[in-house]
Amino acid sequence: MTQLPHNGQPYEYQRRLLVEPDWTRFPGWRDVTTAQWESAQWQRVNCVKNLKQLRAVLGDLIDEHFYADLETDQQRLATMSMLLPPQMLNTMVPDKTPDTDTFYADPIRRYMLPVATDRHLDWPSHPHATRDSLHEHDMWVAEGLTHRYPTKVLAELLSTCPQYCGHCTRMDLVGNSTPTVEKLRLTLKPADRYDAHLNYLRAHPGVRDVVVSGGDVANVPWKQLETYLMGLLSVPTVRDIRLATKALAGLPQHWLQADVVEGLNRVAITAERRGVNLAVHTHVNHVNSLTPLVARAARMLLEVGVRDVRNQGVLMRGVNATTTDLLDLCFGLQGEAGILPYYFYMCDMIPNAEHWRVPVWYAQQLQHDMMGYLPGYATPRIVCDVPFVGKRWVHMLTDYDREHGISYWTKNYRTSIEQDDAEALTKQYAYYDPIDTLPESGREWWRKQLVND
Ligand code: SF4
Repeated sequence: MTQLPHNGQPYEYQRRLLVEPDWTRFPGWRDVTTAQWESAQWQRVNCVKNLKQLRAVLGDLIDEHFYADLETDQQRLATMSMLLPPQMLNTMVPDKTPDTDTFYADPIRRYMLPVATDRHLDWPSHPHATRDSLHEHDMWVAEGLTHRYPTKVLAELLSTCPQYCGHCTRMDLVGNSTPTVEKLRLTLKPADRYDAHLNYLRAHPGVRDVVVSGGDVANVPWKQLETYLMGLLSVPTVRDIRLATKALAGLPQHWLQADVVEGLNRVAITAERRGVNLAVHTHVNHVNSLTPLVARAARMLLEVGVRDVRNQGVLMRGVNATTTDLLDLCFGLQGEAGILPYYFYMCDMIPNAEHWRVPVWYAQQLQHDMMGYLPGYATPRIVCDVPFVGKRWVHMLTDYDREHGISYWTKNYRTSIEQDDAEALTKQYAYYDPIDTLPESGREWWRKQLVND
């Protein structure tokens, strides 16, 4: 029987103040000062990019078999290369000196530093998994500009981030190539790419909302980013601008630099004068990522005039896929960091991600179990990004074959590649549950499909 907390409710809220984990518990950072830690430049220079650098930080806290496991993953399975700012690494096993077992079990380690034994050996990938699972590249109307929804575009300004997440949905484009994935490359010079975006927006006044992303906008040199944003603000039909940056949690030091703060203030003042909603969207998956520095950076964004800071997390097994994990994170975001819990996306159907993905019925259950605890406006929606459809709330499916793990969805608009498709709005689109979560009859059915293919 499920044990209930003391108050007799399935979830018991307790305020938890944010704490910056003590980085000197790691042998490699024993002498790092607060001034160094809070410097964006120190953080970037000391990012962990390979096993040797990880060993230098962890010393002999972790057994050799962990490093071997990590190396196997990097060589055979990883779709993203390793890139961890010290700030992120420091949120793994935050309250004690890590050892091999606690490091293996850590939720942030599980998605930022995946190892081979994390993955499912039987079904590492779903047969329908693809590199560009949301077909964003197919919907480019200019290099890096995806027009998927009628009134909105996604602008990918660059293909790098200050940190690389193992489950990155843009693994097709973002980051360095890995032994298993040769990445797509942006070919235009940044200035030409940005001009092409602005030209498209001027020519398409029906597009009113621009998500400025990448990669992560924290890697765009500030002057370039400010020029781009001022360009967007000069297009009178653009009414919403959302900046996407996981660095708010992974490298909050970036958003606290004087030139960035001052520049963002200029952009926010211009947005305010023109009546444009300027917001920042970040990507936090676990409450342990929230530290006082993250909260300071989020509040600084609000102080300089950004209208809202919102979180779009990704739902992942082993990381946050329990009601307690999600509510702890949401209360930390909402109550301690000034960040609105906005969405949790189901992890997309990219290669080698099956161990992270959850089935739709499970996501529906989590959404059900989260209701009623948070303020209504801060209760996040769990969404499934259905290929060729877009975001759907997880209860919006029209049919569901639980045995084979296939859900069916409809949509109410055409993407930029379906203007001539007469059936786009009447047909059903499929989404697939992870095969290891199916009953044996369903798993057997998929095995036969593979043999027959
Ligand atoms: S920060 Fe976002 S774009 Fe960058 S690797 Fe992580 S998920 Fe991908």
